[in-house]
Amino acid sequence: MLITAVSLTAQTTASHKAATSKAPAAVTKMKGAPGNGKKPKLVVGIVIDQMRWDYLYRFADLYGTGGFKRMQAEGFSCENTLIPYMPTYTAPGHACVYTGSVPALHGIAGNNWFDKLTGKNVYCTDDSTVSTVGSNSSAGKMSPRNMWSTTITDELRLSNNFKSKVIGIALKDRGSILPAGHTANAAYWYDAGKWITSTYYMKELPAWVQRENAKDLPGKYMQKDWNTLLPIEKYDGSSADDTPFEQSISGEETVTFPHKTSLFSTNKYDGFKYTPYAATYTFDFAKAAIDNEQLGAGTVTDFLALSISSTDYIGHNFGPNSIEVEDAYLRLDLDIADFLKYLDKKLGKGNYLTFLTADHGVGHIPAFLAEHNLPGGTVSSSAIQKDLNDVIEKETGIKKGVLTIQNYQVFLNMPEIENQKKDLKEVMALVVRKLKLRPEIVSAVYTDGITSTSLPAPQKQMFDNGYNPKRSGEILFTFKPGYFEGGNKGTTHGLWNPYDAHIPLLFFGWQVPHGKTHRETYMTDIAATIAAMLQVQMPNSNVGKVILEVMP
Ligand code: ZN
Ligand code: ZN
Repeated sequence: MLITAVSLTAQTTASHKAATSKAPAAVTKMKGAPGNGKKPKLVVGIVIDQMRWDYLYRFADLYGTGGFKRMQAEGFSCENTLIPYMPTYTAPGHACVYTGSVPALHGIAGNNWFDKLTGKNVYCTDDSTVSTVGSNSSAGKMSPRNMWSTTITDELRLSNNFKSKVIGIALKDRGSILPAGHTANAAYWYDAGKWITSTYYMKELPAWVQRENAKDLPGKYMQKDWNTLLPIEKYDGSSADDTPFEQSISGEETVTFPHKTSLFSTNKYDGFKYTPYAATYTFDFAKAAIDNEQLGAGTVTDFLALSISSTDYIGHNFGPNSIEVEDAYLRLDLDIADFLKYLDKKLGKGNYLTFLTADHGVGHIPAFLAEHNLPGGTVSSSAIQKDLNDVIEKETGIKKGVLTIQNYQVFLNMPEIENQKKDLKEVMALVVRKLKLRPEIVSAVYTDGITSTSLPAPQKQMFDNGYNPKRSGEILFTFKPGYFEGGNKGTTHGLWNPYDAHIPLLFFGWQVPHGKTHRETYMTDIAATIAAMLQVQMPNSNVGKVILEVMP
């Protein structure tokens, strides 16, 4: 199977070449940002979980000048950055940004997958050989060991005999662990009001992390309640506040402002993840890490891999057209402005390099689409699984022919098919035929038939790049646009469509020229570009290409 993340179609390749060769003319290149060093003191990677590219513009009238707009005004924006695989979930997204690779090669085939060798469901960063550091829960039994590839953060450490310091920070374990790589000095994630880690990295939390935890900032933020930053009438770019298709935050009855977070009791610390304060809290901790670990103060480049998870929790519950999402981004914009100011002061303007991107986007809530006569809907995988199992049993005699449906993939009961000496090709053809007859499914392919199906080349390539023989199902399918697996409230992501796969990509700081490009670039290109800027080797499963326009 040929994996080329960049050349999605012949047309794309041609326009890619054209854009690359005349890049200097197409781009307003100005003198790079000031910086004294040959290399940046610190790289800060910022992944905004579930940030659609259009959020840069949809809420722009209400953004300040120091956050997203400053990154655009002084830095470089790749406006047409696409994810070159599906499923578009958090773990493959973070792995892709930092490995420059795709699930077929880096191994992170989903947030969860069904392991064909053990017959067990696996969570992407599960590791039963390590234990939690910082709490008594099992939330720390995590490591990057399921990821097969090195990351750009690993390559930076390898480039100078591990002198560079690398730290990962995110509320979500997978948003912290996968970017920080295999050789990280630390990765921290959130568990019930505290930052924790695992014995993969250390035996006990550093004193500064214990001090941060002792402050109980989540508890204090929840006392503030969540009201809109601006008077609520200003949010006329979003739906009315009270809609029947929003999912309430667990611990709250209503879906309207003010969200009385001060009244949350037992699920206070879980509810916190669904407030924009959790983003501020993550930046608070990032600053504490830079201060206490003296990131950027040594003789070599350090790397802070930061991911903001609260935007994903809020987005799932309230959807892209909600006041909650709009407010979360207005507040995030202020957090970013404040963080850049902090970095200017701490390290000096032009001495640090930042990129900002997302792990995936998100679709609109189908009930919202229906309200406006737009196509879309939700589908239940378990209903599909039941129908398939009935027809497989009727036509072949195999019971439970489908073990599970995950990541828009059908995992067949291979042991049973082999035991009963059935023809696998025939079972797969039956499943594909039946899936294609379903009203909401637009295409279904079995994995070794991807290249010969009638799908358009870019979607074929996304299937191919996302398919991992050890961790993906035997049959891949995709829904009509606007459809996804889910219930009647809230929304999700995971498919190939532009709302899930078109992400922002901004470079800012050290030697980054000012400008933008609209040619197609890919999530896989980020690691290669950072590697070139740092003059270190690309990650060892990289398929991306250097974005030439960003190079100093
Ligand atoms: Zn995500
Ligand atoms: Zn999500």
